[in-house]
Amino acid sequence: MLFCKKVKPKKMIIGENIKQAALIIREGGLVAFPTETVYGLGANALNPMAVAKIFEAKQRPSFDPLIVHIHHFDEIYALFSSPISHWVQKLAEAFWPGPLTIVHKKSTSVPHIVTSGLETVAVRMPSHPTAIALLKASECAIAAPSANRFGQISPTEASHVTKQLQDIDYVLLGEKVTLGIESTVVSVADEGCFILRPGVITAEDLEKVVPLCSHNPNETIGSLSSPGLLHSHYAPTKPMYLLDNTMDILPPHSGIIVHTNKKNWNTAQALFITSQNGDKKEIASNLFAAFHTMEDNKAIQQIFIEPVEENGIGIAIMDRIKKAVFKYK
Ligand code: AMP
Ligand code: MG
Repeated sequence: MLFCKKVKPKKMIIGENIKQAALIIREGGLVAFPTETVYGLGANALNPMAVAKIFEAKQRPSFDPLIVHIHHFDEIYALFSSPISHWVQKLAEAFWPGPLTIVHKKSTSVPHIVTSGLETVAVRMPSHPTAIALLKASECAIAAPSANRFGQISPTEASHVTKQLQDIDYVLLGEKVTLGIESTVVSVADEGCFILRPGVITAEDLEKVVPLCSHNPNETIGSLSSPGLLHSHYAPTKPMYLLDNTMDILPPHSGIIVHTNKKNWNTAQALFITSQNGDKKEIASNLFAAFHTMEDNKAIQQIFIEPVEENGIGIAIMDRIKKAVFKYK
């Protein structure tokens, strides 16, 4: 006779105790914490066993590298290999702390599990007070992807994290997530920088500081430029479609996400207005909350979402929307 041993779920603590959360990080545990972009799922970046737990908890494939978070510029000297491109300092002066992730050749102390075997590592200094306090108290760099199950919607609130993930030691409550979409990711070398993932910091912002390359300066033959940038991502578990602007009547049981209050959608089962007047910063900050609200609404079978104009932050917003609707095109 076969006995199936039931694995007891871990006890997850939800609270505001930075010292306790930092101790968990130091001891090799997992802490979800707010940043200005989205909630992250963190572990000591230099402890491969701890980092492995992130991949397990998120069911993230091992080919998708993590972003390492720091609170002081000098930490880059332990993470990036010398010579460090002078553009790193320029970018840090202009955009750190903030929503910019810099990918640069890595040092030998960064474990391969963090970078999925790539010779580069992604580093960011967040500006969120709770994230900074945790980083300071932990006294180590923290590897942290978004705290969602792989491929699903990024979390902007603690409840979004606990809905999707169980194997976390501590969910740190703190100040609000303000920006709402993930950081801009750039690959940097002496030639300049190349945008791997659009975010709130736009190409126009970057161009004022560093030359933009037409290709990834760190790409080696045979390597993918950024393995995590899949076509389908950030997706609710219900079908999501782009709204065609000739559409006035929605099929039954539809939810709709729009970015102004101009039109009356009385055939919708549920309506989420991300911004009253199409303000792109406001749309970005509410986008994933809109996805979660529609996903949680049991009366909804499919979701329609209005596109935004692809300029400025609109490029990052459309990047997330296109990835969410990709499977249903
Ligand atoms: P996430 O932390 O889930 O928002 O995703 C981080 C993303 O940053 C990954 O999916 C990659 O696309 C990108 N990234 C992280 N590290 C590297 C790297 N070394 N080279 C290129 N892209 C990276
Ligand atoms: Mg993510």
